[in-house]
Amino acid sequence: MKKINSAEILCVGTELLLGDIVNTNAAFLSRELAALGISVYHQSVVGDNPERLRVALEESAARCDLIITSGGLGPTYDDLTKETVAGFFGRKLIRDDKVMEQIKTFFAEMGRTMTKNNEKQADVPEGATVFENKSGTAPGICIEDEESGVTVVMLPGPPRELEPLYREKVRPYLEKRCESVLVSKNINIFGIGESAVENILRPIMEKASNPTVAPYCAPGEVRLRVTAKAENKDIARSMCDEMIEKIMKTEVRDGVYGIDADSIEDVLIKKLINEGRTVATAESCTGGLIAKRLTDVPGASSVYLGSCVTYANSAKEALVGVKHETLEKYGAVSEQTATEMARGVKKALGADIGISTTGIAGPGGGTPEKPVGTVWVGISSEKGDRAVLLRLSPRRERSYLRTLAASNALYIALKE
Ligand code: ATP
Ligand code: MG
Repeated sequence: MKKINSAEILCVGTELLLGDIVNTNAAFLSRELAALGISVYHQSVVGDNPERLRVALEESAARCDLIITSGGLGPTYDDLTKETVAGFFGRKLIRDDKVMEQIKTFFAEMGRTMTKNNEKQADVPEGATVFENKSGTAPGICIEDEESGVTVVMLPGPPRELEPLYREKVRPYLEKRCESVLVSKNINIFGIGESAVENILRPIMEKASNPTVAPYCAPGEVRLRVTAKAENKDIARSMCDEMIEKIMKTEVRDGVYGIDADSIEDVLIKKLINEGRTVATAESCTGGLIAKRLTDVPGASSVYLGSCVTYANSAKEALVGVKHETLEKYGAVSEQTATEMARGVKKALGADIGISTTGIAGPGGGTPEKPVGTVWVGISSEKGDRAVLLRLSPRRERSYLRTLAASNALYIALKE
C-alpha cells in the first residue's frame, strides 16, 4: 500500500447531529493525525443511516488516503458502520474466532452475560486487520483496499475505548505508513506580547517552512511551537533544536522561561528545589490564586511553605505585619504595602523568598491615580526588598486581571 499523506474523519451517530453529544472523537483524531504530519482536509458527521454513510464514504475515498470512522460498531440494529464499509469495498463479513474469544473473555471478566447480538461484533470484513479493543467489545478494524489505494480504519464510538485503542494500535500502525515524522517543541515566553514576538521573529517565521514556527497565546504568555518534519525523530528533533537556537539569539530570549515547560509555576518549583530555597506568599487581589497554582505542582511541598490571604487591611496588619501608618499614608495598593507584605510573610513563615500581591482587580474601586489593573507585586529575599508596579489593562475583566497578576508574581519570583 502507498504511504499515507492525507486523511478524513467520518463520525457516525445521529446523536452527534442532534447535538446530544459533542464530537470529541473528531477533535482527538484530528490532533493525533496532525501530530503525525497527516493532513486532515475534511471532517464529516452522518447519522445512523447506511445510504448517507455510503455517500460520505464515496466522497471521502475520492479525496484522501485514509478514512478513520468513529461509532456504529456496537451490537445493536442501528450500528451499521462495519456492514456499510464492507459493502462499499465489496467484501463479505466473516465470523472471526479470535475476536469471538476476546469478546467472551471481556464479558467473563466484567462478570456480565453475553447476549446473542454481541456475536455480531466478531464479524470482520474479509482481508481486514483487527485491532483488539481492551476497553470494550467492538474491535477496531482496518481495511487496506489495494484497488482504490484507500485505507479505512473503523473505531468504536465511546471515547474511553477509541482513545486507548488509537494510542495502542492505530498510532503505531500509522507511524509505519507515514512518509515522515513530525516533532514539535514549545518555547515558553512570558511578558512579551504576541504581536511583539511576531514582530521580532517575522524574518525568521516568514522563511521557515520546515521547521515551521507558530505562536499561541495565553494570558501574559506566548507559546512558540516549532515543528519539524523529517524521515525520523532524531533528525526532526535536531532541526527543532537548531531553530530554537536561532530564536534564542533574538530579543525574544529575554522572556523565555522554558522549553516544553508545563507552566511558570512548574519551572519555579523545580528551580527552587534545585537551589534549596523556600517561598511563601501573601496575597490580596489574587486571593490565593498563586498558592493554588504553586500547590498544583507535584512536589511543591518541599519548597512552598504557605500563604496568607490578607484581603482586608486588618488582615494585612495582623497576619503579615504591615504597619498601620503605611496603610494610612500610602493605601493598601501601594509599593510600601506590597513590600511590607512580602517581607512580613517571609518572616512569619521563615521562608527564603516572600512574594505578595495587592491591586485593583475591578470592575469597581479604580481611581484616576490608581485605575483598575493597578497591581503591586512585592518581593523580599536575600537580595533585598522591593515592589514592582504592573499596569494591567483596565478594560480586561476581573478574572483575567487576577490570573495575569498571579502569573506576573510567579514570573518575578522565578527571576529572583
Ligand atoms: P457501542 O458499542 O457503545 O454502541 P459504537 O461503536 O456503536 O459503540 P456509538 O453507538 O456510535 O458507538 O456511540 C456510543 C457512544 O459513544 C455514544 O453514545 C457516545 O457517548 C459516544 N460517542 C460516539 N461517537 C462519539 C464522538 N464522535 N465523540 C464523542 N463521543 C462519541
Ligand atoms: Mg452503538
